[in-house]
Amino acid sequence: MSLETPEISIVVPVFNEAPNLERLVDEIVHAMEPMGRAFEIVTVDDGSRDNSFAVLATIREREPRLRVVGLARNFGQNPATYAGFAQARGRIVVTIDADLQNPPSEIPKLVEKLDEGFDVVQGWREQRQDSVLRRMASRAINGTVSKITGSEINDLGSGIKAYRREVIDRLCLSTHHARYLPAETAWLGVKVGEVKVAHRSRAAGESKYGLFALLRVNFDMIVSISTAPVKLVGTAGALISLIGFGMTVRILFLRLTMGNFNELATVSALLFFLAGVQMVCISILCEYVSRIYVEVQQRPYYIVGSVLEDAPADDT
Ligand code: UDP
Ligand code: MG
Repeated sequence: MSLETPEISIVVPVFNEAPNLERLVDEIVHAMEPMGRAFEIVTVDDGSRDNSFAVLATIREREPRLRVVGLARNFGQNPATYAGFAQARGRIVVTIDADLQNPPSEIPKLVEKLDEGFDVVQGWREQRQDSVLRRMASRAINGTVSKITGSEINDLGSGIKAYRREVIDRLCLSTHHARYLPAETAWLGVKVGEVKVAHRSRAAGESKYGLFALLRVNFDMIVSISTAPVKLVGTAGALISLIGFGMTVRILFLRLTMGNFNELATVSALLFFLAGVQMVCISILCEYVSRIYVEVQQRPYYIVGSVLEDAPADDT
């Protein structure tokens, strides 16, 4: 069976989202059909441990516009999204989370804004339905990334975004491993717009980003787009040396005025402190070195295990 070549591709990374998928596809179809523009839904199963892939395969039997890409294992949300980009055929590509936190009914709003002449449109979750901790972490990271990239976008982490084909093609040229889409699009220098979108709590299942994962992902993002941590280490080192110099002056002064004295406790505390600072500094440097190690291996960013799809109509 052949399908109309889609104008809009909806890319959805999926990791353990089985209970959400039926409703997700229905809501996307419901939002897209009134637009009257041919579309496809490219779901990327990121090595789910539940039966997400099987559920998607079943939905596909009644909805041929749904394509299912299965990655060989769990690679992470960004690699899964890029795997979707590589498969997407539309002139416009929209990303959305599978957990229904972004209502698919907002997709037309993003597409309209893109039609106004933007290259990328990001959804701004003004009223986020996430935990306080999560919102605080996001605020901190938004501030840091905006400073580094010079971006003026309010909500960098939103999963609902729309891109022009030219942007997707340029994004897909990347070969490096640590990729974070807001930073990648800021780097491209394209015109980024923002629209306010509704946000809901997760329909079912759990967030894949607990506190530890959030810290890891955000640290990874900062190190991947900036050398600021190394500069910070240099500044901290200079400050600590100054303090050390001050302490030496003090000890010399005490020796001259009080003669011999024993300050073993102070010296050992200082040793511990300095050893700790040095280890933190070394580990930050190692972060950069290990990234060079990852990059020289030149492994693929993700591996596709299987694809379920129908061929589009040959319109040449
Ligand atoms: N996701 C993924 N691979 C992962 C982690 C997450 O494909 O390793 C998908 C997940 O299924 C969802 C989206 O990325 O569609 C966002 O994840 P989640 O909703 O857990 O993030 P949060 O909303 O808590 O930021
Ligand atoms: Mg979510």
